[in-house]
Amino acid sequence: MPLVNGRYAVIDLASGDVSEDDLPEDYALSGATVLDRVDEVLRGRKDAIAIGSGVLTASLIPAACAGFVRRLGVSPSADRICPLTGNTGVEMKLSGFDFIVLENAAEEPGYLWVRDGIAEFVPSPDMSGRDSWGRTDAIRSEQGDRRIQVISTGPWADEALPTSQLVMNYWGGEDRNGFAAEFGKRNLLAAAFRGMGELELDDPEGHFDSSNELQKVHISLLGRSDGLAAFSEAASGEDLVGLRHRDVACFGCPFPCRTFYKTAEDPKTMKLEGTEPGYLAYDIPAVERMTALGLSSRDLISIMVKCARNGAEPVSVVDSVESHGSGVDLAAVESLLESRGPAPPVGRTLPGAFSTSFADPESFVHCLSLGLCPRYWARVGFDLGSLSVAVERALGTECPL
Ligand code: SF4
Repeated sequence: MPLVNGRYAVIDLASGDVSEDDLPEDYALSGATVLDRVDEVLRGRKDAIAIGSGVLTASLIPAACAGFVRRLGVSPSADRICPLTGNTGVEMKLSGFDFIVLENAAEEPGYLWVRDGIAEFVPSPDMSGRDSWGRTDAIRSEQGDRRIQVISTGPWADEALPTSQLVMNYWGGEDRNGFAAEFGKRNLLAAAFRGMGELELDDPEGHFDSSNELQKVHISLLGRSDGLAAFSEAASGEDLVGLRHRDVACFGCPFPCRTFYKTAEDPKTMKLEGTEPGYLAYDIPAVERMTALGLSSRDLISIMVKCARNGAEPVSVVDSVESHGSGVDLAAVESLLESRGPAPPVGRTLPGAFSTSFADPESFVHCLSLGLCPRYWARVGFDLGSLSVAVERALGTECPL
């Protein structure tokens, strides 16, 4: 089936049972969004979430990197979907499934491991003593591959705290609605993906050429690439620019919003190996909130590291510290993280968040369900007509989107 795998898996975490099912032949052709099908499968189950990729994820269309975590519920649709950026959605797509449904809760902590058409839950109780970075490292070490993409959680998710946050390998910025708590209440410490498969395309050369043409148009619109500073004025301050090491793009993105910062080593040394892990920042609301509070850039980055390791959403953490009235600094944040809060949900719209990339939540959900990064596509203009030639070359049929 061009562009998609045509297959999904359901894992009952309580029993460990795994079942697989085929998707309809017209899954990528019907014009219905992927989420309609995912929701249909979720609706038939009592307590489930899904991790999936979009129809165009891993295609050559610019910034077709996105995946998602989905839950059903009564909140607005944009609150029930968490974007996955970086390479996670792509690894998932190439692992052989379009989405994985997880239902019930495991008896002991462990992680989802998906690769080469196999999906399984791996019990791993010892891992629960680690933070999110330790969980990513442990899975990569255990499975013997540094390229495994890990959606990890930290100690905050283990207690299902509502402001816990999913962490993509080591970095945070996607999960503003407590999806990590959905993992925590299921004893799910992480979800790991490695995809060695290939995407079937009807006309690979035609798809490549038309995607390339589209990217050229975008580059002429986008202006100068400047990492996070191109997306947020707060990142262009001299103090933070002084810590900048390099910019990093997600799969297929020609205009990265991600900047890697170093606080202990000389950031001008362009070696990739070093003793300091540094931090890849793309969480615009967190950077803007802490800049507005007047935190130094070193403290800002250090707080982002601490929040990511704990699997805690940084804006709610900083808000909570500020509400205590004694000023926001690294020590106060560390203390709140160690005591596990409280840090109530933010409760306001956060400009710069992925979910607010578009003025309307419907475009955010639609863009994500297609597998396209909302931040990028909001910037270039989410015009489905502009995609049609590249999609038609991939599918071998009229563009249904
Ligand atoms: S805009 Fe940022 S998050 Fe989106 S694809 Fe590009 S680098 Fe990734």
